[in-house]
Amino acid sequence: MYESLNEAQTAHVSGFKGLLDKLREKSGEWEENQGVDRQSMDMMAEEGILGGYVSQEYGGMAWDALTYGMLNFMAGQFSPSLTGLFNVHFMVTKTIEKWGTEYQKAKWLPRLASGEIIGAFALTEPEVGSDIQEVSATYTANEHGISLSGTKKWITFGAVADVFLVFGKQGGHGTVYLVEKGIKGFEVEPIKSMLGFRGAHLAKLKFNECIVGEDQLIGKPGMALNFIAPYALRYGRLSVACASLGILKGGLEKASAYANERMTFGKKLIDQPILQDLIANMGMAYESAKFFCHKAAESIEHDLPKSLEAVMAAKYYTSKMAAKHIPEAIQLMGATGCLEDNILPRLYRDAKIMEVVEGSNPVLVQYLGKHFAIKSRQEKLNDFNQKPSISQYDLA
Ligand SMILES: Cc1cc2nc3c(=O)[nH]c(=O)nc-3n(C[C@H](O)[C@H](O)[C@H](O)COP(=O)(O)OP(=O)(O)OC[C@H]3O[C@@H](n4cnc5c(N)ncnc54)[C@H](O)[C@@H]3O)c2cc1C
Repeated sequence: MYESLNEAQTAHVSGFKGLLDKLREKSGEWEENQGVDRQSMDMMAEEGILGGYVSQEYGGMAWDALTYGMLNFMAGQFSPSLTGLFNVHFMVTKTIEKWGTEYQKAKWLPRLASGEIIGAFALTEPEVGSDIQEVSATYTANEHGISLSGTKKWITFGAVADVFLVFGKQGGHGTVYLVEKGIKGFEVEPIKSMLGFRGAHLAKLKFNECIVGEDQLIGKPGMALNFIAPYALRYGRLSVACASLGILKGGLEKASAYANERMTFGKKLIDQPILQDLIANMGMAYESAKFFCHKAAESIEHDLPKSLEAVMAAKYYTSKMAAKHIPEAIQLMGATGCLEDNILPRLYRDAKIMEVVEGSNPVLVQYLGKHFAIKSRQEKLNDFNQKPSISQYDLA
């Protein structure tokens, strides 16, 4: 990932290193205590990280997509849970920047960018996950304003966030408002003991006739599920893809170092053909996943026509490779690989989570199947159309 950075990206990435080294030291505690601590979040805020991917006019640092990807890649090597914070916080800022009114931008973005408040993304419900069109949280206009009722579940950083993009229906149309913590009828219930993402402050959110300001509507009713959620999820999936790439790198580094030292049957592990095969496959998965992540970042940065699919492919492939190869890295390291301090057990748990979140892989692969079938047909037609005519050969 480092090799193709330009000067500005390199400067940002060098800036991340010192902070991430400090955060890495605390990441074990986050797993044990089931949550990134407030002090660490304050440290990130002080360094401007929580405004990194926000425009300068709102107090941010205006990173590009690859710089954002790099942050997730670097943090993913030791704490995929931490990338959950970047993921949801910037899904909120990006959505406000793109779809918010001037009032909403001025009200929320500077506070989100400074890290004074944290944003989270609330789409999933206890009864509705993959099939987002079926969300049942309801916004109803009444004499007090807009009343929200419903429940959201598995909300990353939901237990500590201050403002939420809450997706629901209004008059049967997909609708999203920004909802503040602390309003009457809004309860937050932390969710503990997940397989992975243990530091990610998951929560269930209950809304019981909460009154939300009309001026907190993002976009228009009808836009939320077909335009706004997919737009936000492009950024979320870039985060998951790059974090999964970090998981792969973390595993590859640990396994390679061990294979170069550990002796069995009079040889180093790296001299055993079956383990060479294992590391070769992990290395190739890492190199090819890098390509997908670059392509995803580039397609977001330049808003390319098929960016949705490019990001989906990166999320699908990279998380799949991480979930496949981290158990193998643990196998290579034997009992040592099973030790929590080695980070591999954490990466193992989180790699599986990455396959489930932000459009679970079995669902994404169906979109991708159709996408590649259409793409291949179009490319065939293009090849045919662009074939030089006989007269062109003659001229050459
Ligand atoms: C750690 C963690 C963090 C999360 N953070 C957030 C968050 O911040 N905000 C948020 O809104 N949500 C969040 N989620 C929820 C997540 O997005 C959903 O779990 C995911 O979309 C899948 O939904 P589901 O779990 O309800 O599974 P379901 O949709 O009920 O599906 C169950 C299983 O069946 C598979 N499946 C479903 N439909 C099909 C199909 N048509 N074909 C083949 N297979 C299918 C799915 O892949 C899945 O494996 C989080 C989840 C986790 C685990």
